[in-house]
Order: sequence, then C-alpha cells, then structure tokens
Amino acid sequence: MKKQLLALFIIITFGIEAQTNTSFTFNINGSTVPAGLVSSLNEAAQRWSNYILITEPIKVNIFLVNNSQYPFSGLTLGNGRKNFTNAPINNYIYPTSLANQLAASELNVGEYDMDIYVNLYTPFYYGTGTPPNNKMDFITFIMHEIGHGLGFYSDGYVNPNNIGSFGNIPASALSPLTTSFPWRGQDSVPTIYDKYIIKESQSNLVGIAANNTSTLGDSIKFTSNYFDGPAFANSSNGGQAIKLSGGTGVFSLGVDLLHLHNSVCNSIMSYCWGLGDTVRKPANMEIGILKEIGWNINPAITINEIAVNENMINIYPNPSHDLFFFNSSLASEKIKSIELKNILGEKVAVINNNSFTDISHLANGIYFICVYTPDFQKVEKLIKGN
Ligand SMILES: [Zn+2]
Repeated sequence: MKKQLLALFIIITFGIEAQTNTSFTFNINGSTVPAGLVSSLNEAAQRWSNYILITEPIKVNIFLVNNSQYPFSGLTLGNGRKNFTNAPINNYIYPTSLANQLAASELNVGEYDMDIYVNLYTPFYYGTGTPPNNKMDFITFIMHEIGHGLGFYSDGYVNPNNIGSFGNIPASALSPLTTSFPWRGQDSVPTIYDKYIIKESQSNLVGIAANNTSTLGDSIKFTSNYFDGPAFANSSNGGQAIKLSGGTGVFSLGVDLLHLHNSVCNSIMSYCWGLGDTVRKPANMEIGILKEIGWNINPAITINEIAVNENMINIYPNPSHDLFFFNSSLASEKIKSIELKNILGEKVAVINNNSFTDISHLANGIYFICVYTPDFQKVEKLIKGN
C-alpha cells in the first residue's frame, strides 16, 4: 500500500513516462505492401507497448490479402499454450504473446504468436493524421487486431447445428484461412479470457452447460454476456462487469464474446469506431481486462487511469482545513470501508459516505482517501491546509 501511494504521488507530480521500446516483431506476407503500412504497424506496436510490459518479443505474422468476398477487414488467429511454467491458472489457454512473458522464455520457438489477416480490399488510411470519412484508420484497425492476439480471444464456438463448445474449434471452421502455427487440439480447454465471461447476472459461461451442447450454444449466442473480472477489470469500469458484444449474429468463432459492446466508444476492441474514426489508444477497461488475464501493465497507467476514477468520488473542499465532505456514487453495499491515510500509509481517520469528516487535529500535508470494496480499491488525494 505504501508503495502504491508513493507511486500515486510521483505520477501526480511528474506525469506519465512513456516506454520507448516497442518489443514487437512483424513478418509480412504479401506481394504488394502499401506505402505507409509498415510505419503504421510500428506506430500501433509502439502505442500498445506504452501500456503493457513486454520482456519477450511479441511475434506478429501478417497475411496481406485482397478479396472482396471475405466478410472482414481483418481477422486474427491466436497461438496459445496452457499449463506452462509460471502459468497463473492451469487448464486455460493463454495467448503465447502473454504466456511467453509469464514464463520469461519463448515457449513457441519457431512459431508466431498471432496470424493477422489484413484484407487490403478495405479502404485503409495509413497515417497519423485524421482519416477521411471514407477510409478506415489503419493504426486503430491494427491495434484492434493485435488486441485479439494479446488476449481478447475466445475459444467459444457454435457450429452450424447450434452445438456450442469451448476449446473445440476444428481447423475446418477457419477455412479458407489457415494458421502458420499448429492449430490447437480440440481439447475442450477455454482461453483465460473465456474464464471471466458471465451470462448477465448469472453464472460463468464456462461450465454453465456441458461442452458440445445446444444449451451452451445458446449461452454463447446470448445477447447480454459480460466480462466479469473481480481483481482488476471491473474496477476499470466503475465496479461493474464489462458488457461484451452480442446479438450481432456473428458468433460462430466466438466473435460476439471477444469484442466489447458496440455502445462502448473510445475503445479499441468494440466496433463503435468505423470509417473516418480514430481511437489509437486502449480504454481503461481494456487495460483492466488485459491485467485481469495476467498482463503486467505499465504501473503509471495502472495507478493514474484505473485506480483513480474521479468521476465516482466527490471531496470538498479540497484542500481542506477542518471539515471535508465525502461522497461516492458507489452503492453503499459495495463499500466495505473508507479510510483516511497519511503518506506513510497509516490510517488516521475513518470516513463515512455522504458525511463530513473532521481533520482539524491533523498536521498539514498530503493524505489519501482509500475506498475499499470487495472487488477493488480507489485512492484519492486530500490536501490538509490552513
Ligand atoms: Zn475484432
């Protein structure tokens, strides 16, 4: 706790320091590479590497295709591993881009971490400026596809007979596309991302029904599924589970599960953005999801953008001399306790929601209001002054 408070203070004082090492490698397959594509790829990689900590290079394989018949602008097929050294949770598939970081070694020597099909039939805009209204921003687009390879990846599948499964996608379902790496066996093992998906106000999707049943098929196709990440993801979304895409009818490869709901704008992994739009930066909840599944996040980003959500908390006056009022929009049953701590992390007062607290007896200086809930903590700075 003490370390976290110190970090918070430093960030407020000095701001975020961006990483400069992208740590991505790209292999591009295609006879014609559009001008500007490579620099846009590198820009996207740079942007992702500002958020996630990369110690093992992430190996991206790109297939450039140009086919008006393909129903996609891009499609990512992810490599995965389970039960590796340092795997946080066994019997779930981790994307190799993440598994390699966790294992601190290259588990998939000779294989790429992800294959990204890019359909050049799409009118892409390659640049860092504002795309015209009839073009798709390539940086936003490829950050989205890389995001799938980082972990927004489900092994949920519903076959043409409405039979649903996790970890049971036959290679034939990918046809006419193929992977550069061996396709995972049909071992009924879900991805680590799948572990956290719940049916609205109900159970986890994994285990809600037997694998290879139409009941599971209906659940995968259900229109209100959520990513419920109790440790980190929900706290990046005001304490609520994060709504996933659903009901678009594109469910056969789990597509409805591995995107955020279309209403979630300013996010990379939703389809709120389109022609003429740019995002170019993951939303807080997307970082929360990546952290939930095991990614180490740039600590500056974590503290500054996730742990502190000022919209949910009101403190006034601040700075304060004797009495300050505290109010949080969190439901009262969600709050376990609210404590005032000094910069050493010592508790100096207990705070009640929607109430005044007297700090006239405390020394002038910086304090922290710590809000504890079953799922997460929030920290806000309070200045005691004259
Ligand atoms: Zn996608």
